[in-house]
Amino acid sequence: MTAILEIRDLSVYYGRIKALHDISLTVGEGEIVALIGTNGAGKTTTMKAISGLRAAHGTIRFQGKDITKVKAHHRVGLGISQSPEGRGVFPGMTVRENLMLGAFTRKDKAAIATDLDRVLHLFPRLKERFTQAAGTMSGGEQQMLAMGRALMSRPKLLLLDEPSMGLAPMLIQQIFEIITEIREQGTTVLVVEQNAKQALTRADRAYVLETGDITRTGTGAELLADNSIRDAYLGVA
Ligand code: ATP
Repeated sequence: MTAILEIRDLSVYYGRIKALHDISLTVGEGEIVALIGTNGAGKTTTMKAISGLRAAHGTIRFQGKDITKVKAHHRVGLGISQSPEGRGVFPGMTVRENLMLGAFTRKDKAAIATDLDRVLHLFPRLKERFTQAAGTMSGGEQQMLAMGRALMSRPKLLLLDEPSMGLAPMLIQQIFEIITEIREQGTTVLVVEQNAKQALTRADRAYVLETGDITRTGTGAELLADNSIRDAYLGVA
């Protein structure tokens, strides 16, 4: 496995509170890796440290390069793109405008047009809603828009924070199918999820985060089959 992302001894503080305790994890090129854990475990904090929205101690390497001190917008240029928790689309702007914002670091007009086609193919609903204000769309549609916008930077690594949050079961299924398709098209995916069942079913590998520590790792199938994981994260299925 060639690592695209290597995190070693990563710590993040909020004031005096240490939210992440020297965690280490690796994402291989072409993988879907899931990060699961309960509320407040530090999942979003981990994502923010990787995308550069939160300062961190330790080492973050992307394609072998130490990016720990690289600013967030430069990380986008290197190929890391985050679709944030709570969607974060610009409500007053149209679907088209939101998508084009995702390409803000790029100048290659023809390739941007190709990627826009690709995104609209992945999310036909966004094509139907192309000129509609993002704020008037449903939660699921806004989630698709946030993912589409993240893809418009043509990332090598896509960070998805809770893509299934607040969605109906059928839509959750659909979002994960799209995540699998995104990977098939060559983008590596790190996905944070409360919906552990879907995440573990789709992921090649997963890490379990508990109050700032990584307590377990394994293939998605291994963790799905594990009784303690079932009890803690999968509820009574
Ligand atoms: P959730 O699924 O509920 O979003 P999470 O696993 O993503 O949880 P984080 O949002 O990363 O968890 O939070 C990890 C810990 O850091 C929590 O205890 C949280 O209260 C704390 N924390 C997060 N952001 C801040 C902040 N801006 N200031 C202070 N503490 C914070």
